[in-house]
This record gives sequence, C-alpha cells and structure tokens, in this order.
Amino acid sequence: MALSSQEIFKTPVVYLKGVGPERAALLNKEFNICTFEDLLYYYPFRYDDRTEILSISSLREDQKYAQLLGTVVHIEEVGTGAAKRLSVLLTDGTGTIELVWFKGINWVKKNMEVGKHLLVFGRLNFFRQNISIVHPEFEEIKPGEKPELKKGLHPVYSTTEKANAKGLTSKTIGKLTATLLEKVAPHIEENLPSSLLSSLSLMNRRDALWNIHHPANFALKEKAEERLKFEELFFLQFKLLGVKWRREKEKKGFLFQKVGPLFNEFYNTCLPFQLTEAQKRVIREIRQDTNSGKQMNRLLQGDVGSGKTIVALMAMLLAIDNGYQAALLAPTEILAIQHYHAIRNLLSALPVEMRLLTGSTRSSERRGIYEGILHHQVHILVGTHALLEEEVKFKDLGLVVIDEQHKFGVAQRAKMWEKNTSPPHMLIMSATPIPRTLAMTIYGDLDVSIIDELPPGRKAVKTVARTEDKRPQVYEFIRQQIAAGRQAYIVFPLIEENENLDYKSLEEGYEYLRKIFPDPVYRVEMLHGRMNPAAKEHVMKKFARGEIDILVSTTVIEVGVDVPNASVMVIENAERFGLSQLHQLRGRVGRGGEQSYCILITAQNLSEEARKRIEAMVKTNDGFKIAETDMEIRGPGDIQGTRQSGIIKFKLANIVTDLPLMQLAREKAMEIWQKDPALVLPEHNPMKRWLKKIEQEKTFWADIS
Ligand code: ADP
Ligand code: MG
Repeated sequence: MALSSQEIFKTPVVYLKGVGPERAALLNKEFNICTFEDLLYYYPFRYDDRTEILSISSLREDQKYAQLLGTVVHIEEVGTGAAKRLSVLLTDGTGTIELVWFKGINWVKKNMEVGKHLLVFGRLNFFRQNISIVHPEFEEIKPGEKPELKKGLHPVYSTTEKANAKGLTSKTIGKLTATLLEKVAPHIEENLPSSLLSSLSLMNRRDALWNIHHPANFALKEKAEERLKFEELFFLQFKLLGVKWRREKEKKGFLFQKVGPLFNEFYNTCLPFQLTEAQKRVIREIRQDTNSGKQMNRLLQGDVGSGKTIVALMAMLLAIDNGYQAALLAPTEILAIQHYHAIRNLLSALPVEMRLLTGSTRSSERRGIYEGILHHQVHILVGTHALLEEEVKFKDLGLVVIDEQHKFGVAQRAKMWEKNTSPPHMLIMSATPIPRTLAMTIYGDLDVSIIDELPPGRKAVKTVARTEDKRPQVYEFIRQQIAAGRQAYIVFPLIEENENLDYKSLEEGYEYLRKIFPDPVYRVEMLHGRMNPAAKEHVMKKFARGEIDILVSTTVIEVGVDVPNASVMVIENAERFGLSQLHQLRGRVGRGGEQSYCILITAQNLSEEARKRIEAMVKTNDGFKIAETDMEIRGPGDIQGTRQSGIIKFKLANIVTDLPLMQLAREKAMEIWQKDPALVLPEHNPMKRWLKKIEQEKTFWADIS
C-alpha cells in the first residue's frame, strides 16, 4: 500500500515493528497514543547522561542524577514491617554513598555481596553529609572488566505503573521511538519558512524530532527543544495575530478625531492630581487607537492602585467629545456603585449625564435609563452584568470599558460588541497584573498597555505574617491605628464549596471581634455577599465616610474598593487565599498618604505552597512579580482565565520561563501577517500546509476567543 507522505503519520501504532495488538492497546489506554504521529510527539521528559562515570567526591547538590562505579562494602537490612529497607554502602575510593531499597529487597539481597563491583545510576539525595540513591539501576561489573558505557544521552519517557508492569518501560518506549523515527524521518516536512530557520538558526524539523528523542549530547537536545518550542509558540501567535489582523481589517472603528471641550476642561480644571507619566502614555495610546479608524481592543494592565480608573474616565470623555456614549462595566455591585459615585464627583462641574444600572435597580428607574441611553440623553452608563441584557440599547455606543476583566468571560465581552451596529472600542482593565507570557497567550489578540508606575507619595504597604496565637498583639496594633484615626479591614475567607461553614466562621469572628472591640468605643460592622444591595451600599458608605472603624468582611471588598483612610488589612486564614487574591486584598490599603499594613494570619503548619504564597506576599509589593511567582508556584493551568480558555497545550514551551522566545515568535508571526497574509509566497507554502492540517485536526488550540 502506497501511503502519501503525510498519511504515514496517521498509521495506527499497531503497525509499528515491536508493537503488536496488546502493546498497541496499552499505548492507547495508558498514554493516549493511537497513531505514529502520537508516538512521534510523545517526548521524553528527561535525558540521562550515562556516557560518563562520576567520582563520588565530585558530586554536588545541583547534580540530580549520576552514574557511579564502586565496590559494595556493607549490606544491612534496617527496620521492620512496612518501614523495612535494604541499605547497601558503595565506595569508589573517593567517597561512599548509600543505596536504598524499600521494595524487592529479597531479590536485591540475593544479588548483592560485599566486594562486588557495581555500575549504578539514579537520582541523588543529599542529606547533611550523606548522599544516597533510592532504587538505583545497577549492573554487576566482573573484576578486570570495563563497564560498557552508553552512547549519547539516554531519553527517559514517563510511563505508568501499569505499562511498566507489562514491559512498556521508558526503555521500551525509547526503542519504539527509534524504530519509528527510522521509518518516518524521510516524511517529516518542514513547516517553518526557510528564511526563518536561517535567520534564527533554528534546527530543521526532521533533525529536531530526532534529537528531541535521541540526542547525542545536551547541545543537540537544546537545539531541538528550542526549535520545537519556537514552532509551538509561533503557530499559536500566528493564529492569535490572525484574529487581530482580520478584525482590524474588517471592523471599522469609530473615529474619535478631536480632543474636545470635556476632555480639555477635565484635564485642566477637574483633575485632582497630576497624571503619572505612565497614565499619560496609556491615554496617548488610546488616543492613537481611537483616531486610527480601527476598532480598539486594548488590555490595560496595571498594579492595584496604579490609577486605571482615571485613564478609563478620560477615554470615556474622549468618546463623548466625539459624539458617542460610553459604558463602564464592573463585576460587582459594590464596585459599580463606587465607580459611579467617584466618577460623578469628578465630573460634577461638567455637563455629562451619567446613570447607574445594576441588578437591583428598580424597574421604574430602569425604564428611564433604557430611554435615556436609547435617545442618547445619557452619556455614560455604569453598571454590572445588568448592562449585558438585551433591553440595554444604546443610540451611539462608542466605547466600552470593562473593569476587572477576569470576572467576565469572552462571551460577555462579545455581548458588548453587539450593542452598536459597529462594535465599540473596548478598553479591558485587569485587576492585578497578569504575567506577560500569559497575557500574550490568553489575550494575544489584544493590544496591551501597561501602567508600570504608582502615583507619587504612596508608601509601600508593610506586610507581615503572624500565626494565630499572635492575635492579641495584632488587635493591640489595630487599636493603636484606630486611635490614630485610621480604619481597618478584617477579611475572612469565603469559598463556594464551603460556603455555609465559612459564613458561620465569619459570623463567629464578627461576634468575637465585637467583644474585643466593644461598642461604643469601637464601631465594628460586617459586610458580605448575602446582604441585600441596599444594606451593602449603606455599610460601604459608612466605612467610606469614616463612621466605621473596623469592617469585618468577606472578599466582596476584594476588587476596586477605594477607602484611602483605611490603613490596616488583616486577612484571617490567609493560607486559604490564592496569591493574586491576597495581593488584590492588600491593594485595599496603602491608598492614602499614611503608612499602611497588611497582616496575614495563618495556622502554624502550612503546606509548602501556602508557605510560598505567604513568603511572596511578605517579600514584595510588586504585582507583576507576584503574578509571576503565582504562575511559578501553580503552573499556568490554574491561573485566571487559562483553564476556561484551554489553549495552553504546549508540549515543550513553558509559559513561565519562555517569555523571550514567545516575544520572538510573536514578532516573526506579525511580520508574516504584514508581508503575506494569504500565504501566497512560495516560501510560505510549508506553513500553509501545516496550518491547514492543524486547523482540520484542531491539534493545538481548542477555542481561542
Ligand atoms: P486601580 O488601578 O487599582 O483601579 P484606582 O484607579 O482605583 O486604581 O486608583 C487608586 C487611587 O489612586 C484612587 O484613589 C485614585 O484617585 C488615585 N490616583 C490615581 N491616579 C493618581 C495620580 N496620578 N496621582 C495621585 N493619585 C492618583
Ligand atoms: Mg480599579
């Protein structure tokens, strides 16, 4: 049967020499490997260097694996029952290490003898002055014989216990990939333009696939890895930029040609402070977008408190000056109300009509609002998800601002697009920074502006961690702060899965705190999501006016709440919060001129991850660093937005560490969109074929927005 060059990759793996029906079933079940291609892309996760024998005295803690040659000097069984282990001491003249077995003890013991020479390989454990290897691979070397060393690096594939037991070990998989490569290598086609390969000195695809499986040395493995990572990032970026490129071509944007009287008047007479350089730069970027004829889709990244709101407000004034309406969408009612009041205050001297629309707006009022926006009597509509409803129709919607974007899905963003015949300009603001690689992936079709500067005069929030037994001291500290005229937040965790219990501990905490901070000396109140909106607003207003000293709350105050006089943020059970949530909460203080404090109260014993989170909080106030640490700790899979978007399916590229390569890939992908969007140039043929293939198979991306 003659297979076309590409069909060979679809051959069921059962037809590979050395596989057979039983093994094929196992490959299928345990590794989801069905075809030649699946096996080809099943990369090793590690490579062992077994070309060398190291001396024990040369081992250092950064050496993870080692091959050693030595003589057995001692054999001993230690412990009993489940704790039983076999300990064998091996010396090579430069030092001694311990080999340890917990399983298969009898078999190993039978093959062990003092005086035997062993070639061993395994993962090193360093403890104090001792080095050990648990369950090493070993091989007896007869006296006078020379060990036969392996050539090249030794690929290690991940297997499952079941596969291993049935003989499908890492070694077997290695043999299969070698057989496979022999067979398919001639059919492996390049998918990147040759000019890219040469200008970036990337390895070609065929060599890369060989060397990712069976490299002769680490340098080749690195080159192979670099090439394949680049490929992954390049095609992802090409796709994302395609979305952007087409949108820019097809969607005409409203023209905000002039900087009009509202914007100027606001800038000259209403601004309560000087804009930071970063704020000015972002406003310029928005100006350029909205004056370009293209529809703006811009992500505004900035740390908590960096002043994103004022930038959004000025963009809205620009819209109004040019005859359009604007909408501001916030994820919670508290935040929408706060934005509404803050903006109304700032605009009090200007002829701008504003309305607030939330889920609890009364229907009589609602009708008036609908009328007002439909006839363009209202210029700015601020609100929550209520804005997305169908009845909300604008006459001339020109700009939509979405605050704290991560609380909204792609579908919700799209709904705002449909509120005008042509989609309005979109300004999407992040709550806390997102690592740049991630932003380039999940928001890769957007332009990004960054406010990387805090308003002047801010004092960095001092953050400390305290165990629960230190509460009395924490309370004493709060008393001092209140005596100095400040206010405090005490936040309790509340997670959905545990909602009832969490509410109970919130309420108990509240009662307890009222005893510690008794009426009427202290004014303590509670705020949480189960309260009705009017009650929530009432409490928030009192807190904002300084009529409450301590606000005991859930994370309803997490986003956006702005009360500059509050200087203490106490977070109970801090280990239960995610890192970006902790940072977001901390952002509620440090908004005024006073020194502010964030106190993380934790249990005595913390999990490794929790400890890292708390440490990161104590160590830095920089949201961009926090975001990166968060991604390092958790991996990208759990970070906001990625789970839903499901697009991070890289086999090799690492979204935490591959920023430079991602940037390069994006740049190169952009060049091709600009030069040859339809890929008609002969040199883009390979790319075109490849794109067609992955498009059909939906291999690399499931559902990019
Ligand atoms: P975020 O970026 O977290 O949304 P906000 O827009 O709420 O931050 O701004 C935080 C606080 O900083 C607000 O009280 C705001 O009035 C103030 N602010 C914003 N820009 C400046 C500036 N350039 N100078 C001084 N204060 C500013
Ligand atoms: Mg904000």
